[in-house]
Amino acid sequence: MEATAAVIWEQVLTDIRSEVGETRFNLWFTNTVAVDCKSDSLTVGVPSTFVAEWLETHYARILAASASRRLGCAVKPRFVVDGGLFRGKVLQESVAKNELLDEVAPAAPADFEASKYTLENFVVGPCNSVAYAAVRKVIESPGKAYNPLFLHGGVGLGKTHLLVAIANSIKGNRRRGTIEYVSAEAFTNRFIAALKYGSLDAFRARYRKTKLLVIDDVHFLANKPATQDEFLNTFNALSRDGAQIVMASDSHPKLIAKLKETLVTRFLSGMVARLDKPGYQTRLEILNRKCARRNLVLAPEVSDFVARRLKGSVREIEGAVNTLAAVASISRAPVTSAIASEVLRSLIDDKSRPVRLPEIDSVVSAYSGLPEGQIRSARRTRSVSQARHIAMYLARQLGGFSYEEIGTYFGGRNHSSVVAAVGKISRMTRDDGEFAREVSALKSEFAQ
Ligand code: ADP
Ligand code: MG
Repeated sequence: MEATAAVIWEQVLTDIRSEVGETRFNLWFTNTVAVDCKSDSLTVGVPSTFVAEWLETHYARILAASASRRLGCAVKPRFVVDGGLFRGKVLQESVAKNELLDEVAPAAPADFEASKYTLENFVVGPCNSVAYAAVRKVIESPGKAYNPLFLHGGVGLGKTHLLVAIANSIKGNRRRGTIEYVSAEAFTNRFIAALKYGSLDAFRARYRKTKLLVIDDVHFLANKPATQDEFLNTFNALSRDGAQIVMASDSHPKLIAKLKETLVTRFLSGMVARLDKPGYQTRLEILNRKCARRNLVLAPEVSDFVARRLKGSVREIEGAVNTLAAVASISRAPVTSAIASEVLRSLIDDKSRPVRLPEIDSVVSAYSGLPEGQIRSARRTRSVSQARHIAMYLARQLGGFSYEEIGTYFGGRNHSSVVAAVGKISRMTRDDGEFAREVSALKSEFAQ
C-alpha cells in the first residue's frame, strides 16, 4: 500500500511542480511524504500543523484534481503531522515561515519599480528639502543622526520614493535580513498570519534583528491596538540595538487616529519632516526630468502650461507625462498647448477645493484624540468644548463658512456661541505661542 502511495505522490508532485512553479514547490512540497493511499483518500505526512493548514487551504484543490486524475477516481488529500519524519528540518521551516510572510502580504505593491526610486531621480525643492536632507543624513550615518526619521505629507509627494532610496542606499543585505522594507499594512497582515500559524517567533526574529527597518504608510496602524503593541515592542527592541528606523505616513503622528500615546511620543522623538506640494519651479523641474526619461520633448510654453496647471501631487505630473507621451507617439506630432489642455482637462483642477466641514471634524477629532462625532455632540466637557471651538475657528478661517452654517453643523449651536468660540481661539493664538503652533500645524493639514 505504501509503495503505491509513494508512486502516486511522486506523480502528483510532478503535476504540482509544473503548476505552481519551482519556488513554491520547494517551499511547500519538498518536505512531504506519502503515508497511505486508500480508494478515496491520499494521506500525506507533513512537518507541522502550519504546513498542513497551509496546504489544506491553498493547495487542496489542485492536489485533489491531480491525485484523482492519476488514480482514475475521486481522491481527497489528507495531511497528517509527523514531526519525527523531519527531524533536523527546523531551520528550513523557519525560512519557509518567513517566505510565507512574503506570500501572505508582499512588502510593496507589485508595480513597484525600485530602480526608479533613487536619490538621483528625486527632484529637490523648497517643498521637500528638509525631508531630503534628513534622508541624506540617515544614509550617511544610519542609527545615529536622525533616529527615528518620520516623513509625513499628502499622497503622491515622494515619501515612498525617499524610503525606497534609503533602503537601497544603505549597505546591507535584504536576504540576510539586515534591511527590512515593509508597508504598515503588510506588517499588520504578516503579524496576523504569524499569530494564526503559530510562527510569531519567526516574525519577531525577522523584525527585531534588522539593522534598518523602513515602514511605509504608518497611518495604516490607526485603530489597530494589537498591531500597535507589537510594533511598539519591535520599535523598542530595535532602539535598544541602535538600529535605524524610518517611517512615512500620510499624516502627522498626532493625527493618526487612536495611535497610542507611547507610539506618538516615540515617533516624535527623532526627526519629523514634512513634505509639501511642490511649487511651480519644482513642478517644472520634475516635469522636465520625467519627460527626459521618456524621451518626450515639450516646447517650453507647453511645459510652462502644464507645470502651471498641475498643482496637485507629483503623481499627477507623472500621469500627465504618461498621457502626453502616449498622445505624442500616436499622433507623431509635437504636443501643442491646445492638445495638452485637451488631454489634461481631467487632471487640471483650477478651482481650489474648499475645505469641507466633515474633514475639519475628523482632523480635529483625531488630533484631540476624540472619537468621531463627539465634536458635534451636546457634550460640554473641557476637552470636547475646546476641540469644538478649534474646529469652528478652522471652519471660519479655512472654509469661509458662515457662523450659521458652522453652528448648524457642529451640533446646532446658535450664531452667538460660534462667534464667541471663534473669537476665543483667535485670542488664544495671539497670546499663547505654543497653542498658536498647534493650530498652525492643524491648518497645514489642509494646505492646498
Ligand atoms: P507618496 O509615497 O508620498 O504617496 P510616492 O513616493 O509614491 O508618493 O511618489 C509618487 C510618484 O511621484 C512616484 O513615482 C515618485 O517617483 C514621484 N515623485 C515624488 N516626488 C518626487 C520628486 N521630488 N522628484 C521626482 N519624482 C518624485
Ligand atoms: Mg507612499
